[in-house]
Amino acid sequence: FNTERFGQHILKNPQIATTIVEKANLRPTDRVLEVGPGTGNLTVRILEKAKHCTAVEMDPRMAAEVTKRVQGTPEQRKLEIIIGDFVKATLPYFDVCISNTPYQISSPLVFRLLSHRPIFRCAILMFQREFALRLIARPDTELWSRLGANVQLYAKVDLIMHVGKNNFRPAPLVESSVIRLVPRDPPPPVRFEEFDGLGRIVFSRRNKTIHASFLARGVIDMMEKNWRTWCSEQGRMVEDNADMKKKVEEILTATGYGEQRAAKMSIDDLLKLLSAFHDEGIHFA
Ligand code: SAM
Repeated sequence: FNTERFGQHILKNPQIATTIVEKANLRPTDRVLEVGPGTGNLTVRILEKAKHCTAVEMDPRMAAEVTKRVQGTPEQRKLEIIIGDFVKATLPYFDVCISNTPYQISSPLVFRLLSHRPIFRCAILMFQREFALRLIARPDTELWSRLGANVQLYAKVDLIMHVGKNNFRPAPLVESSVIRLVPRDPPPPVRFEEFDGLGRIVFSRRNKTIHASFLARGVIDMMEKNWRTWCSEQGRMVEDNADMKKKVEEILTATGYGEQRAAKMSIDDLLKLLSAFHDEGIHFA
């Protein structure tokens, strides 16, 4: 096991560990999921406040260390450790997720949490600062991206605090930040793959017009292929002279989004654009 590969930077500042757990507003009935407990600096604070904690830790030596730390305490029976990779582990029911995340799995962690059912109440997550800032970015700011749009489609995300690298041992190369993620419940009735598919097209050149993004090489062909698949699934006839480029341009003109730019579009704008395509049987996944 290698410190860098597993992102083993242990949080050494007890005040920050306490704040992270406080911000979760744990209730005595809560079941908590922790990803990468390391030596258990957050875990022991979670166990004080919650009913139960499942901690997923990939490094058996770390797992042994947390186990030892709670052994013989009244909290011991509240802790279950799953030794393994969070990305592959079967997740239990949980109300709250708390994690000082190994940064290598930032993206899979967020999307795995967002697709988890039943929907949890909130997550308090530490990320590399750059990643955290992209998650909380708003439209018409420099860091607004496909990542932020995808995550904010399903959750409210806000910044809790910045954490300097010297609060960890060994100190990582990058700065960190803690965010809060609260899933929208009920989730918006849109397939992730569809929203993300549109996002791939419009955010690939976020400062170009939407019209220009759709004219990029391969885009119209891909949409036409999806459309033909959809038509055959629906048992619909495809006109011989179907002109996808024309259809797309009509939709962009009718919605007025053709001259806008993804850099300034809100999730609501993107959803409206997506739904205008869907009304015409045009899909992105
Ligand atoms: N939570 C502890 C703290 O705040 O001090 C440790 C944080 S350390 C940045 C990340 C921890 O996640 C390490 O213990 C590492 O072994 C573990 N880890 C790394 N990749 C993992 C994965 N894919 N699944 C589960 N745990 C992982």
